[in-house]
Amino acid sequence: MTDKLIIFDTTLRDGEQSPGASMTRDEKLRIARQLERLKVDVIEAGFAASSNGDFECVKAIAEVIKDSTICSLARANDRDISRAAEALKPANAGRLHLFLATSALHMEKKLRMTPDQVFEQAKMSVRFARNLMADIEFSPEDGYRSDPDFLCRVIEAVINEGATTINVPDTVGYAIPELYGNFIKNLRERIPNSDKAVWSVHCHNDLGMAVANSLAGVKIGGARQVECTINGLGERAGNCSLEEVVMAVKTRKDYFDLDLGIDTQQILAASRLVSQTTGFVVQPNKAVVGANAFAHASGIHQDGVLKARDTYEIMRAEDVGWSANKIVLGKLSGRNAFKQRLQELGVAMESETDINNAFVKFKDLADRKSDIFDEDILALVSDESVTHSNEQYGFVSLSQHSETGERPQACVVFTVAGKEVKGQSDGNGPVDASLKAIEIHVKSGAEMVLYSVNAISGSTESQGEVTVRLQNSGRVVNGTGSDPDIVVASAKAYLSALNKLQSKAVKVAAQG
Ligand SMILES: [Zn+2]
Repeated sequence: MTDKLIIFDTTLRDGEQSPGASMTRDEKLRIARQLERLKVDVIEAGFAASSNGDFECVKAIAEVIKDSTICSLARANDRDISRAAEALKPANAGRLHLFLATSALHMEKKLRMTPDQVFEQAKMSVRFARNLMADIEFSPEDGYRSDPDFLCRVIEAVINEGATTINVPDTVGYAIPELYGNFIKNLRERIPNSDKAVWSVHCHNDLGMAVANSLAGVKIGGARQVECTINGLGERAGNCSLEEVVMAVKTRKDYFDLDLGIDTQQILAASRLVSQTTGFVVQPNKAVVGANAFAHASGIHQDGVLKARDTYEIMRAEDVGWSANKIVLGKLSGRNAFKQRLQELGVAMESETDINNAFVKFKDLADRKSDIFDEDILALVSDESVTHSNEQYGFVSLSQHSETGERPQACVVFTVAGKEVKGQSDGNGPVDASLKAIEIHVKSGAEMVLYSVNAISGSTESQGEVTVRLQNSGRVVNGTGSDPDIVVASAKAYLSALNKLQSKAVKVAAQG
């Protein structure tokens, strides 16, 4: 009998805390559906009490997703817990995830509470939560930097109150694999009722060891749940990467001897969706999901792989969803074929109007680009002008002129609250001129902190996907846009970022 390793995905909560990674309700629903197809055991859908928007997102996901357990984060107080439980009401299986800091530093500087007060609050909050739901996870925030004696006291008490999962977060990414593994092992050995809960790891990647630490927590510490995110998205240097943990446990089953419920063939689709939605590009040499992860450039390697795959390959590209880029649709494809492909890609569009809008954009794209790949379709549906016709700013058209020796000029037509306006400007290049033409009208005053262009399917014939990150009075947002014309893609990305700056929802900071 082998144990099962529970995969707890927190892309929609911890991942969303990356600067600029905030997602709309529709975007979160789309990602949640893909996580369900990936068969993750638990989806942390958000932090319901942090804002009305987050509450609605958790609720919407709880209504739609039926195969995975849906979890909401909550601070260890009655109000947060009630709010989370309310959002989770429609779920088939719901989980409340309570957190309260236990390190001396956090208790003193952040909470301004004594250890005894923290102990009482932890206990009482789990007691309160247990009356609302059976599945309760408790995280002593900054657990790895907490005093082990105090931690033992708190954890024993919360298990007695009915906590079913105990998560030991390395909130600041300070751990070393062997030490972290032993830290958890030690807690489990010392706490008399430790076998009444599933133990979980939650590691950040500040020193590049989130995956290694998580695996040590599993192997040495005996944890049976890993908290992780798609592409390792997360605060600062990010979280433990789901695809890496899953493929490590699967590829080295000889060592870990653990079962996984994950459908690994859905990994790449999940990675692409998260990257396209947030504008956080995956580096080419990223394990498992990077463009080069299965590419063999050197002659010796290619020869070896052609003779026998396992000379240089420890995993099969197909097993994580890589297949040769297939042309899936073209100019002559009809609405039904398009609709069916959307379904196969897991894009659920709520209304026929949305499908019609997307189909019009698809036809328009197919006129300009003969071969349409899955990546193009995903980019098209993440284009906000398709699904959010009621946004403040919308792209209409653009013309620009650039010639060697002359200063580039651009003219952009776009909508502001439904009304068309035209902006004109020069700039250092056509992209610069186009964005200035928009800014002249909008006067956002936002500072651009990142601009990047990517070819969606690898060649100059493919669509350009642009990410623009804007910062304004402490807020950071990402906008993405795609088009075969990168100047147009840039203008769309800029308008999308401006739309996000417009929505002024303020959130309560969650744990790291
Ligand atoms: Zn975290």
